[in-house]
Amino acid sequence: MTITFLGTGTSQGVPVIACGCEVCTSSDKRDKRLRSSILVEGDKTVVIDSGPDFRYQMLRANVQHLDALVFTHEHKDHVAGMDDIRAFNYKQNSPIDVWAEERVQAAIKREFHYIFTEFKYPGIPQVNLNTITNEPFLIGDIKFTPIEVMHYKLPVKGFRINNFTYITDAKTISDSEKELIKGSSILVINALQKQTHISHFTLEEAIAFAQEIGAERTYFTHISHRLGRHEDISKELPLGIELAYDGLKLEI
Ligand SMILES: [Zn+2]
Ligand SMILES: [Zn+2]
Ligand SMILES: [Zn+2]
Repeated sequence: MTITFLGTGTSQGVPVIACGCEVCTSSDKRDKRLRSSILVEGDKTVVIDSGPDFRYQMLRANVQHLDALVFTHEHKDHVAGMDDIRAFNYKQNSPIDVWAEERVQAAIKREFHYIFTEFKYPGIPQVNLNTITNEPFLIGDIKFTPIEVMHYKLPVKGFRINNFTYITDAKTISDSEKELIKGSSILVINALQKQTHISHFTLEEAIAFAQEIGAERTYFTHISHRLGRHEDISKELPLGIELAYDGLKLEI
């Protein structure tokens, strides 16, 4: 199975509009971060989160087919681009399976109300809603095990796929959920910035969490321009821990 990082930035993306900081003006491609999302390619093609950059992410990664969208939570930087699944509806002549918790489904129904009305305007997105609980679910042969993490007071979902775990918006994780993550050989976890934040791991907290889990390789995502330049921060990280960047591919 292949994982591709479609975006590794926090909610504003990097560069931030009208920011002149050294990260936002960096010429290093790894300092250009679209909103956080990954592409999972196995017997099915799945995208986790369709934020505001979804359309460009599909074009940039040359995604020709999409079977399912899986949502971690309902914040705008994770759902705002869902309307653009229309392209796949037209090409595949079928609805797209959308997986989300009930609370997230309610938010999607508010945000994209026109998709769910009884009398539909022609050409709107077509989705099949599927409910995520705490139980593992299958998309084709790909088994997703949900992991609940706390994003300040909001429970959000991370996912384990075989020995790969992907978590985007955590501030605290209970011991019982940590048990679901342990044994992962590749861990992706959010590391926002060095300064403390109410709903996201700081760099220091992310490193401590990575070391507690002890995966062979850990990649940080959902990164703010305030973290620093990719090249500078990379030098500060312990062995086995790296910053992810847009376009990075992993074989799992
Ligand atoms: Zn987010
Ligand atoms: Zn900046
Ligand atoms: Zn969020």
